[in-house]
Amino acid sequence: MRVDVVTIFPEYLAPLELSLVGKARQAGLLDVRVHDLRDWTTDRHRTVDDTPFGGGAGMVMRPDVWGRALDELLADGPARLVVPTPSGEPFTQRHAESWAGEDRLIVACGRYEGIDARVVEHYRDRLPVTELSLGDYVLNGGEVAALVVVEAVARLLPGVVGNPDSLVEESHGADGLLEYPVYTKPAAWEGLDVPDVLLSGHHGKVERWRRDEALERTAERRPDLLARLDVAALDKHDRQTLGRLGWVVVGNHLELVRPA
Ligand code: SAM
Repeated sequence: MRVDVVTIFPEYLAPLELSLVGKARQAGLLDVRVHDLRDWTTDRHRTVDDTPFGGGAGMVMRPDVWGRALDELLADGPARLVVPTPSGEPFTQRHAESWAGEDRLIVACGRYEGIDARVVEHYRDRLPVTELSLGDYVLNGGEVAALVVVEAVARLLPGVVGNPDSLVEESHGADGLLEYPVYTKPAAWEGLDVPDVLLSGHHGKVERWRRDEALERTAERRPDLLARLDVAALDKHDRQTLGRLGWVVVGNHLELVRPA
């Protein structure tokens, strides 16, 4: 897979040389190319922004500079254009899973008040475009979003994470739950003991305990996820656990009938 990141701060993407993403690049599993948007400017000052039409504070990134950059990159072949913006759709594991199956992403990192709106309007007719938000807060630029997207997508590419089983039971996976709590040695630390069941060696009981913990943690921390859960995937024991937490199956979804 190839990812092109266009930014006015190429150095910001240096962490993509580290850890699993860095190794994936070295192994040829992932081709990340970071470009300086200013390489597509035409003036002496390498200007990428100008004042907003209609007035107001801040500067807006010029569409002509972005257009030259994107046209040149797209001459290499098709890609999905990802435009980070706080007004975009919230980034989730579903995006990462879907994009891990694509050949190429171009991430266009905005700065200042963002990129002239005509850039997305123009490219939407030519390629898939996703305006993407990391969350309900405002950052200074899209570079952090580019780091997030590359890391979330790269770890799903075959061969990037050493043991693919570790991707199966994670939070936000296929079961729609948060992951259960995890523990390692020592079994006793600062007066806190690892739950006995995890030391029992009883595989079935461990599985059940983990499933209950995942249900409980999700109910407590992210009730919005429980409300969207596929109830067809819930067994009798799941329903009992959820019932204890105040959640019951109503039709084809879960409802909180008695807050815990
Ligand atoms: N004026 C814009 C607004 O209110 O929607 C915010 C611009 S922000 C200061 C500059 C750039 O940071 C954006 O163009 C985008 O690339 C990036 N950015 C800021 N917050 C973001 C978020 N929550 N998710 C993704 N990108 C974000």
